[in-house]
Amino acid sequence: MPAGTADDTRLYEVACAQLDRAAAVIDLDPDQYTRLIEPRRSLVVSLPVRMDTGELVNFTGFRVQHTLTMGPTKGGLRFVPDLSLAQCGALAMFMTWKCALLALPFGGAKGGVRCDPAQLSTGEMERITRRYAAEIEPIIGPEQDIPAPDLGTGEREMAWFYDTYSHAVGHAEPACVTGKPQALGGTPGRKEATGLGVVFVLEAALEREGKVPAGQRVAIQGFGNVGAVVAAELHARGAQVVAVSDIGGAVAAPEGIDVPALAGWVREHGSVAGFPGAAAIERDALLEVDCDVLVPAAREGQITAANAPRLRCRLVVEAANGPTTPEADAILAERGIALLPDVLASGGGVTVSYFEWVQGHQKYVWTAEEIRERLRSQLRDAHSRVVEASGQLGVDQRTAALCLAVRRVGEAAQLRAVFP
Ligand code: NAD
Repeated sequence: MPAGTADDTRLYEVACAQLDRAAAVIDLDPDQYTRLIEPRRSLVVSLPVRMDTGELVNFTGFRVQHTLTMGPTKGGLRFVPDLSLAQCGALAMFMTWKCALLALPFGGAKGGVRCDPAQLSTGEMERITRRYAAEIEPIIGPEQDIPAPDLGTGEREMAWFYDTYSHAVGHAEPACVTGKPQALGGTPGRKEATGLGVVFVLEAALEREGKVPAGQRVAIQGFGNVGAVVAAELHARGAQVVAVSDIGGAVAAPEGIDVPALAGWVREHGSVAGFPGAAAIERDALLEVDCDVLVPAAREGQITAANAPRLRCRLVVEAANGPTTPEADAILAERGIALLPDVLASGGGVTVSYFEWVQGHQKYVWTAEEIRERLRSQLRDAHSRVVEASGQLGVDQRTAALCLAVRRVGEAAQLRAVFP
C-alpha cells in the first residue's frame, strides 16, 4: 500500500499490528489472515475542478474497500488536506472491525478528497464532491459500497453525492449514501448518533461499577459532530464537563462548564476559545486535565507515549477513530487507566447509518424513538460481548473487541472460500 505522510504510514502499520495481535490471540487461520491483511480494492482518482477564479485544479480522491466478504462496504468520506491512501487504508480496516463487532452486514471502507474545506467556496465544494462521486461511481452503490460523512463533510455533501449518483443510475437511489438530510431520506438521529453512542457505551461501562454519568468529571477533546453531542448528552445527565478543546484552543472549569452556553458561543464564534464561562488553558493540556473520564473526540494519534504518563483520568472513552497509539495503550494499561476502544465506543454513527440504509431499502421511515432504542440496545449488546470476551481471553477490551471482529470476518471468509 503506497504511503502518505509518516503519520499515515504509522497509522497503517498500527492497523496491521492490531490484526496481528488479534490473529495471535485467536490463532487465526493463515489463509484468513492473508485475506484480511491487505485491502481488497483501492481507487485513486484525479479530479479536475474549475475554481471560482477560473483556474482548473486537480484534486486527488481516494476510496479504499478493505473486505468484500461481509456484504457491501461502508465508511466515511473525509475532506482533509492530509488525506492519503495509507490513511484511507488504515481507516477502512478499522471500519471492517467496527461493523463486524456491531454485527452489521458490511465490510469496511474509507475515502475522500485531499483538500481544505476552510479554503473552498460552497460552489467549489459542490464541484469537488460531485466530480468525486462521478469518478468513484463504478465501485459504489447501495449493494456495493455506501459512503457517509466524516471529517470535513456532512449532510450537504451527502445530498450532492446522492444527487450525482442518482443522475448516473437514472433514478433516485437513497440507499447509495447515508448521513443525508432528512428531507432526502436521511434518518432521524444520524447527526447525534456517534456522540450518543459514546454516551450509551460509557453508561453501560459505568453501570458495571454501580455508577451513573451524574457526578462524573469529564474532559472532551474536540467539539465537532461527535464531541459537542457527547458534551451535551453528558451535561444533560448531570455529569460535570470540566474541560473542552477544539482546534482553536481549550477551556476548563473544575466545577463544570455550562455546555449549552458553550455551544451557543461556538455557534457564534466558531471555537471554544475565548468562552467567558471557563478559564483558557493550552489546547493540548486538555488531555492532562484532572478528571474521571477523558473523551478524545478529535483525531487519530492524540494520546501518545509522550503524554500518556501525564493523563489524570481513570477511564478513556475513544470517541475518535484511533486516538491512542499502541505505545500509549501499554502505558495506560500499566497505569491502571481503563479504556473503551474506538471500535466499540464510536460505533453509533455506523449503526444508525445502517438503520438509514435499511430504511432506504424499505422505503419506510422509523421513528426517532425506535432508532434511539435500537442504537442503545445494539451498543449495549456489543459492550457485553466485549467485556465477556475480555474476561475469557484474558486480554484488554481493545484486543477483545478486535478478536471478536476478526473471528467473525475470518469465519465468513472461510465459509465463502477462495474464488476461483
Ligand atoms: P468534526 O470535524 O465535526 O470535529 C472535530 C473536532 O475536533 C473539531 O471541534 C476540531 O476543531 C477538533 N480538533 C481537531 N484537531 C484538534 C486538536 N489537535 N485538538 C483539539 N481539538 C481538535 O469531526 P467529527 O465528525 O466530530 O469526528 C471526530 C472524530 O470522531 C474523528 O476521529 C472521526 O473519524 C470520528 N468519528 C466520527 C463519526 C461521525 O459520525 N461523525 C463516527 C465515528 C467516528
